[in-house]
Amino acid sequence: MYIIAHGGVGSSRELDDRVKAAVEKGVSDNAFRTVVGVVSALEDDPVFNAGTGSRIRLDGKIQMDAAIMYKGDIGAVAAIESVKNPIQVAAKVYETPYVLLVSRGALEYARNMGFDAHDPSTEARREELSRMHEKLHEHRVLHDIYKGVDGGDTVGCVACHNGEYAAAVSTGGTSFSIRGRVGDSPLVGCGFYAGEHGAVVTTGKGEDIIKRLSAYRCYSLIPEVGLQEACDKVVKDHIEGSSIGVIAVGKDGVASASSKQMSQASFCMD
Ligand code: ASP
Repeated sequence: MYIIAHGGVGSSRELDDRVKAAVEKGVSDNAFRTVVGVVSALEDDPVFNAGTGSRIRLDGKIQMDAAIMYKGDIGAVAAIESVKNPIQVAAKVYETPYVLLVSRGALEYARNMGFDAHDPSTEARREELSRMHEKLHEHRVLHDIYKGVDGGDTVGCVACHNGEYAAAVSTGGTSFSIRGRVGDSPLVGCGFYAGEHGAVVTTGKGEDIIKRLSAYRCYSLIPEVGLQEACDKVVKDHIEGSSIGVIAVGKDGVASASSKQMSQASFCMD
């Protein structure tokens, strides 16, 4: 079993221990259950921008995105509110003939599947929101402020077990985002990809990652240049000035690369 998880590009390496604790908690008997377990544990840690502790949008609401890919199938949710573990809802979508459920439809599906109401907001995030409102008041032009947004503290995990690869990602989105904004995280080939050569998850400003199809790009480089170089290349060739982090797993182990520090932890057991 090979596993690597991250706590978002820009997150301090001092959080590595918390990512490690999530990996230890989530490790299971196959790649699918492992990535769901690890990402659920990261969602439950309020320090990360996913599940409880997700970033609050400008309207005061939290909308979350999550996705999983395994054995060629995908389950994803976007702009879902009031659930504790979006990745677990995405894992339930995986069981349906659909790939992605959004907003109210995703929430209705979650409730039908037995997911209870949960308020993911925290005091720290409420304070962050009032600071954002002050900044907005000062600058007035959302577009200019958004240019400097980087993402951060989003979580992800990739794992390999018996030659099967899985990728899972979960986020509360970027700061300064408006209601209905969806980034790269729940979009296949952008925030995540898994196939016969390995699995990849990205983090960073979603809009820039979407434009580059960064997860698929990294994945498709793996057979050509190897795992580490594939990650390095995607980071090196990313849009100038925009932060990105990548984690990947392949037949030889795990790799990561990022343009800024990124909390992470890995686990390798043959
Ligand atoms: N990629 C996420 C998004 O744009 C943010 C992040 O990675 O921190 O929603």
